[in-house]
Amino acid sequence: MVVSATVGPPASTDQIWHWLGEVSDPEIPVISVTDLGIIRAVEWQGDECVITITPTYSGCPAMDVIAEEITKVLHSHGINLPSIVYQLSPAWSTDWMTEAGKQKLSGYGIAPPQQQVVDISSIRRYRELQPAIVCPQCGSVDTQLVSQFGSTACKALYKCRACLEPFDYFKPH
Ligand SMILES: [Zn+2]
Repeated sequence: MVVSATVGPPASTDQIWHWLGEVSDPEIPVISVTDLGIIRAVEWQGDECVITITPTYSGCPAMDVIAEEITKVLHSHGINLPSIVYQLSPAWSTDWMTEAGKQKLSGYGIAPPQQQVVDISSIRRYRELQPAIVCPQCGSVDTQLVSQFGSTACKALYKCRACLEPFDYFKPH
């Protein structure tokens, strides 16, 4: 019996995307790197698996941890030493976060980023309206900004006037 000499990659890129869903964000363990939308590409270049990542913030120290975690998870699935490539442009945007990721954030007690509401009814009085930030504890929109910076630079600190609980808001950018 003749066995073909051509050996395909050990896993499809779809399968690798799926495995990357097991890698959680070190700062918010309930959401995965795929939920965050930082994985831009998964491809095979010859027998090397190349993962392209766009950091949420440049110089974010969590990125090293994420790269290590990705290497560990893929290794556990039989993929040795994936290449992690950082792509800084276009910059990561909270729009890349999946709906599932936003829901998990809310369940974790962090208000997910919301689209800025822009009132374009009159260009003359063009202004940005603050979107209503929903309290992740009780669902009230009666919330108030306490500080532009919460537990990390990418979050703002809010306070709910209904349940009086403070909470982090993941700022859109
Ligand atoms: Zn509340």
